[in-house]
Amino acid sequence: MREEPQTAEQSAGTGWDEPVTAVKGVTDAFAAVLGKGLKIWTVGDLLAHYPRRYEDRTQFKRIVDVRHGDAVTIMGKVLGAENVPTRSRVTLTKVGVEDDGGVAYLVFFNQWFVKKQFDKIRGQKIVVYGKASRMGRNLDLTEVEWEPFDEDKDALAANRIVPIYPLTEGVSQARLRRVAYAALEQFNTDDAAERLPADLLRRAHLPTLKDALWGIHFPVSDEQRIDGQRRLIFDEFFVLQLVLALRKRQVHKAPGIVFENTDAPVKELQAALPYAMTNAQDRVIAEIAIDMQSVKSMNRLVQGDVGAGKTVVAMAAIMIAVRNGYQAAMMAPTEILAEQHYLGIRRIMETLGVTVTLLSGSLPAKEKRAALAAAASGEANIVVGTHALIQDTVAFHKLGLAVVDEQHRFGVLQRAALKDKGTSPDILVMTATPIPRTLTLTVYGDLDVSIIDQLPPGRKPIKTHWKRGAERPMVYESLRALLAEGRQAYVICSLIEENEKLQARAATELANHLQAQVFQEYKVGLLHGQMKPSEKEETMTRFRDRELHILVSTTVIEVGVDVPNASVIIIEDAERFGMAQLHQLRGRVGRGSTQSYCLMIGDPKSEDGAARLATMARTTDGFLIAEEDLKLRGPGDFYGTRQSGIETLPFLDVLRDVPILNEARQEAFALLEEDPMLNRPEHAELKARVRKQYKRVMKLTSS
Ligand code: ADP
Ligand code: MG
Repeated sequence: MREEPQTAEQSAGTGWDEPVTAVKGVTDAFAAVLGKGLKIWTVGDLLAHYPRRYEDRTQFKRIVDVRHGDAVTIMGKVLGAENVPTRSRVTLTKVGVEDDGGVAYLVFFNQWFVKKQFDKIRGQKIVVYGKASRMGRNLDLTEVEWEPFDEDKDALAANRIVPIYPLTEGVSQARLRRVAYAALEQFNTDDAAERLPADLLRRAHLPTLKDALWGIHFPVSDEQRIDGQRRLIFDEFFVLQLVLALRKRQVHKAPGIVFENTDAPVKELQAALPYAMTNAQDRVIAEIAIDMQSVKSMNRLVQGDVGAGKTVVAMAAIMIAVRNGYQAAMMAPTEILAEQHYLGIRRIMETLGVTVTLLSGSLPAKEKRAALAAAASGEANIVVGTHALIQDTVAFHKLGLAVVDEQHRFGVLQRAALKDKGTSPDILVMTATPIPRTLTLTVYGDLDVSIIDQLPPGRKPIKTHWKRGAERPMVYESLRALLAEGRQAYVICSLIEENEKLQARAATELANHLQAQVFQEYKVGLLHGQMKPSEKEETMTRFRDRELHILVSTTVIEVGVDVPNASVIIIEDAERFGMAQLHQLRGRVGRGSTQSYCLMIGDPKSEDGAARLATMARTTDGFLIAEEDLKLRGPGDFYGTRQSGIETLPFLDVLRDVPILNEARQEAFALLEEDPMLNRPEHAELKARVRKQYKRVMKLTSS
């Protein structure tokens, strides 16, 4: 299937839309491999296949000079390779490489087949990148990347800063480098592709697109590379801001709904609740009520740490909408969470005569049809669902309010799509993600912010302990004691990245083991992503009803799940999780007034890993954890990136790049001051890009 190009840079006259076979050296067969493995179909796709890192090969490090812990690039001759037997099941392959001053050993684990590859090129030169570990005079390199090296034949690989591209089977660095270079020479020759006004480039000190692309693919200096990256970051964010600003303008034109009646519905809800609102909840609800009364559409972000009680705040807004004769929609990022919100909201709302409907992607066809009909006819006052809610087939009779829970899983433009389901409905966004203040304006520029800065009364801070794998029996014994007191527990099985099937199997095995071998006297339940929605719902209901004592789960429960009597959470292989994720998982307990416990089992292999777990054990402060997480992992992993909708640039670093993002935002707004609809001929290209970007993200959301 032909995919959308990876960048919005293509335009008429540049040749960037031509198939990648137009590039010298790209055969039909090679093009097929590029398309299938790397989604490179056009010239533009190839130009947008950015290096994932660079190696400074202007001078190689000499092996004798390499220090323990360095990440280095060396060049040397292959001496030979051997497979070394070990006592564990691991195969170790060691490959000797020699330069003029010493010998290094490349170490491969469980890759016995590499021996053959190196045997074939004994005596030849290779370039090696790896992590150094030194024991006296012996130097090992692990996590190795290498390529054959022939200075005469391959000028692109030596004496310069060399790009290292993401690869796929059948594509070597050398070949990809050659075709990327050819594409730049053939198709990046003039400034036809430039579409930012020259005076803007000057003001923002940005290179032209042409220079930027050379700087990103084949930089002659770090400065040139960084300038190129800045330019593309600016570019992408500039377009996104234009999209948002244009939308905002339209939204402003259409008046918002005036919900006249706000006090009585909130009181009505309060009377149906078993507890009183906290002061913080009252304050935020009052802020929401003011927004909803006004003719201006509400666009509000409610931020509150896990367990702060955001759901009931949303319910207050929903009650206001419903009692004023409108429907409300609530969108959650996962099926589990949507189902839980559905059940929780229905429990309260049904007693008030309000109808609640669930709409999620995996409903059986018949139920889905019924849900769609109920939304369209207005019979459903409230529709709770996943992103299925923003699909084309969904229509509302009279949508007045759209609530988006756990915003960090959605992009800004997805939120916009939900808004488009009504005529200017009010929008309420809820997130537990502590967003550094510097980012709030940039990423959430179009939202007003309310903060729930208080937990419901009687909460005790969760006691968190970090235990080693060897201490697991002790952990289980502590759990047994807590179960005996009538508590319930989650056991989160280890994270297996990217593979739901394996993940589900691991959880099943763990549940079976705990039931049969450890907790025979209790009932162990199981929850994972491969189960049918009805099965998941049944399990959650049984757990909530205390028929199950232990719930073994994958991270499907990470977001939002709420069972107050569950006050213990055990997290297996905790070192595999990020801190933000651990914080979310831990937030599943500590929701009632009993003392809660989080027991992390982990044997981290790095100092950073140990520091993460130690921090988790020390504090439950979400802001602090986010900050520490940033310090330890770098902002590259910070999940603030996704919500901005600008996730296509591998070198974007939302924290580092705040100044440039702000600048792009200001320039975008300034441009629209001058040319509100981008109708001037010199902005035609830009307008086309804005359109395309908008559609692209919309398409992503509906697939
Ligand atoms: P989150 O902010 O993480 O979404 P929830 O909305 O799931 O938190 O609320 C967490 C728990 O606190 C729920 O069990 C909810 O019923 C309870 N809760 C919310 N507000 C109050 C309150 N004012 N007093 C007591 N319990 C509350
Ligand atoms: Mg929640």
